[in-house]
Amino acid sequence: MAADRADWPDETRAGEICVKRLLAGERGHYGPLEHAQIVLNVGWFPHSVMQQARTHRVGVSFDVQSMRYTGERICRAASGELDLEDVFYLRPEGQYSDRQGKKYSYTAEQRQLDLALCRQAAERYRTMLAAGFAEEHARGILPFDYRQHFVVSFSLRAFLHFMDLRAKLDAQEEIRVLCDLLWPHMQAWAPEIAAWYEKTRLHKARLAP
Ligand SMILES: Cc1cc2nc3c(=O)[nH]c(=O)nc-3n(C[C@H](O)[C@H](O)[C@H](O)COP(=O)(O)OP(=O)(O)OC[C@H]3O[C@@H](n4cnc5c(N)ncnc54)[C@H](O)[C@@H]3O)c2cc1C
Repeated sequence: MAADRADWPDETRAGEICVKRLLAGERGHYGPLEHAQIVLNVGWFPHSVMQQARTHRVGVSFDVQSMRYTGERICRAASGELDLEDVFYLRPEGQYSDRQGKKYSYTAEQRQLDLALCRQAAERYRTMLAAGFAEEHARGILPFDYRQHFVVSFSLRAFLHFMDLRAKLDAQEEIRVLCDLLWPHMQAWAPEIAAWYEKTRLHKARLAP
């Protein structure tokens, strides 16, 4: 009742009550977590992350730099005004393994070859735009992992669901990095719920609150 407003629990107490009465012991009363919303502005993630993130449909909404309207930054990278790696993502050199656990190296020489391909694609893209091609047409020749900026809004429940599926240890490395960067925002936003989640679920692949 609004008349009792002065007696309402403060944010910390409300968080504690949510954990104790709704979440602890697998109670699973997630509905109240669907009302709180967070909006995040995210930049420079490779397209593969965008593709994976956008498979999430419930309680989450994205607006993504689509590359249909402007590819000016690609042209600037072709001209050397921007670093190529500001617009294209390549993994750092190092040791990796495939999905079957077989190890391989991504060497500095291999990475240089791939950067040269990125440069060539950016130059071709610039030529196409100069010849009057639409951005949505020219983008098709770009390396898959061009970087994209996006805005995402989550309900608190959808945020935790996203963490369940994308922070787990067999999710792709790059989307796990996104989760690592999102997590401090969750901790600042709803610290009691974040602490409960960290203790009971984070990285444990206990899927789907
Ligand atoms: C490691 C990993 C690998 C993946 N690999 C692939 C792949 O190779 N190819 C590919 O296409 N996708 C892949 N996915 C995407 C995956 O199949 C899901 O589409 C994605 O993770 C979204 O999950 P979600 O449905 O739980 O999320 P949300 O869309 O956010 O939905 C939240 C929850 O709502 C319910 N829900 C949502 N929509 C429906 C519905 N239509 N019917 C019934 N219940 C619904 C479910 O309980 C769901 O868990 C992968 C995901 C992961 C984590």
